[in-house]
Amino acid sequence: MAKHLARIHGTEEDKVNCPFYFKIGACRHADRCSRLHHRPAFSPTILIKHIYRHPVREAELRAAVEGGGGDWDRDRSGEVEVDKEKAMEDFLVFFENMYEELGKFGRIEALHVCDNLGDHMIGHVYAKFSDEEEASDALNVMNGRYYDGRKMEVEFSPVTDFREARCRDFDEDTCSRGGFCNFMHIKPVPMCLIRSLEEDCEEERRREHIRSMDRVYRERERGRE
Ligand SMILES: [Zn+2]
Ligand SMILES: [Zn+2]
Repeated sequence: MAKHLARIHGTEEDKVNCPFYFKIGACRHADRCSRLHHRPAFSPTILIKHIYRHPVREAELRAAVEGGGGDWDRDRSGEVEVDKEKAMEDFLVFFENMYEELGKFGRIEALHVCDNLGDHMIGHVYAKFSDEEEASDALNVMNGRYYDGRKMEVEFSPVTDFREARCRDFDEDTCSRGGFCNFMHIKPVPMCLIRSLEEDCEEERRREHIRSMDRVYRERERGRE
């Protein structure tokens, strides 16, 4: 029986635990879900909710304000027009900022920004650290702080294996569900950028470590005087 429960945990067969929350850390039913969203007390992964300003949502908001709900800057398909090049540039700046900010707390194993448009996933950023303590430090400092005019809402996420969470069709540019897919549409980032960010962060953490050792040493010296 116990074996059976372990096998079905977080799957469609599991009538108690929500498979979406378990795998993706987000479920469109939110608090109204009929199954349990078991939020972990600790995890190497944190979720910063709705922090990335999705260009499509931003364009929709602008269109609503400027056009009074009119449709003059929508194309024929009814979608708002987005300057793709600018959106890409903005995204990379956002990614760098996030990486540098989070990299202060420890080694980042994965930093994923969702391209999804559904209300329960839009703008989500997942950061997986090399251990739970680093994730906990990041959560304590970041939660409630402001970024780009938005208060950050940070929580531990049950997601530790992004292979289960990500939409493989999106990775191959063939997802027919588009922005409203319930699996993560992880925005691609050039590998060389991630590598150089990681190197910079490592160097910065090393320097900070030396600075803090210095402080401890000086305080001890002062104590002796
Ligand atoms: Zn659910
Ligand atoms: Zn998809």
